Amino acid sequence: MTYNGSVAVRLNSESTIQVTCPDAAAEAWVRDHAKSWFSCAPKVTQKVAPSGVDQDEAYTLAAKAPGMIEIGAKTLQGVKYAMHSLRQAAERESRGNKLLGYWMAEFSIEDEPSLGFRGLHLCWFPELSATLIEHQIRLAAYYKFNYVVLESWGVFQSKRHPEVGLKNGPLTIDEAKRLATLAKDLGLTLIPQINVYGHATHARSMGGKHITLDYHPEMQPLFEPGDGWNWCLSNPDATAVIRDLVDELHEAYGRPPFFHVGGDEAFEPTCPTCRAVTPYGKLVAAHFNAVHDLLKARGARMLMWHDMLLLKGDPRWKPLAKGNSRWKPFYANGRKENKGIIDALPKDIIICDWYYEAYEADPSSPNAYPTIRYFREKGFDVVTCPWDKVKGIRSQGRYACATKMFGFLGTVWHHFSGRRFEYMMRNSSDAAWGGESQGGQAVSFHWRQMGWDMGIDSYKETGFYDVTVSRDGR
Ligand SMILES: [Zn+2]
Repeated sequence: MTYNGSVAVRLNSESTIQVTCPDAAAEAWVRDHAKSWFSCAPKVTQKVAPSGVDQDEAYTLAAKAPGMIEIGAKTLQGVKYAMHSLRQAAERESRGNKLLGYWMAEFSIEDEPSLGFRGLHLCWFPELSATLIEHQIRLAAYYKFNYVVLESWGVFQSKRHPEVGLKNGPLTIDEAKRLATLAKDLGLTLIPQINVYGHATHARSMGGKHITLDYHPEMQPLFEPGDGWNWCLSNPDATAVIRDLVDELHEAYGRPPFFHVGGDEAFEPTCPTCRAVTPYGKLVAAHFNAVHDLLKARGARMLMWHDMLLLKGDPRWKPLAKGNSRWKPFYANGRKENKGIIDALPKDIIICDWYYEAYEADPSSPNAYPTIRYFREKGFDVVTCPWDKVKGIRSQGRYACATKMFGFLGTVWHHFSGRRFEYMMRNSSDAAWGGESQGGQAVSFHWRQMGWDMGIDSYKETGFYDVTVSRDGR
């Protein structure tokens, strides 16, 4: 990027946005979004021709005085990214209390992502509104993530198996379609997720809730006895329900190219039939294979968490970089009955390797992230998944770019409020794109802009908290 802070470029109805892109749909897209984002109608012209930009998601963007904006891209996606950057660069120009339009310093940008898969994993808990989820998806697109994995925590209203979700769950088939269409328009693909192994409660383990069993005792055969945390994988009726849900969700999201099946933190089997299968991992692998084959037939690649595929306590999963003793081992939750699952899985599955520590590794060290290296040596594409530790987010992003990994998947889990959310969004988006946050992104302002796009008029839905303060003073 180069810029000249002493020259102002204006963006208002007198300005021109000139697009060079082979995709003829760009002109209308730019016109529509310029109008709604900047409340003015600049002249938009397009040269339907190559722009000299080679990479699919790359773009060039230049602002020239007095009011010329030039965009170059190979694809409409690149044009969308240029427009997101333009919106981030533009500030309001005003006289007194009158908003005249927007202006910015004269600048020129050439930009391209380092990773092809830049994902953000979001949880739709029953307590969260559709408005909040849409707000998060819009911000993810604004920050140039190209995928959002949207995990249903019991909120999916299945038509085929309504009892496997909350009654009146907000994620209806129509809502999934609406969100997928909206995300697509902004340059982002929604990836559905349901858990096909453990986490079958669709509720957090410490909460004692079970989205299905709390209301349907007759559904007990589908789950392992006890807390029902695992699906009962020796029961063909249970695995058929799971495949139905995968099929239905994938269709509802508009048949995206990926589907996340969870697969983490499963417990030991407890029913006599599952326990009689030795090793139990055979049953698990056969189930994953069946879901994989279903998805493959539907044109989607399967994503899954990594931790049950590694044996807990294996000394190879210890960080070897500086401060070895301080760092938690890389996550591995497999027990002896899980041994061998990894070798029974098709190699086109994408392994989502999560590590949530503030660990910093030198990407050139062969031992930087041993679990990632292990899966890659087995022939799998791997995405690295940090959570909320800024150092870890940056380190994993650097490692993914330096070693040309398949991608990056930031997670948020239940920390979608306050500064933590702000830091995650800022640093994960930068790490996924291949840069380092300079701390200049005004996340709260960008969040507000997304709220304007949605027409939010509820106090609770603004900002990063439901309320500014509670009566307890918290
Ligand atoms: Zn069982």
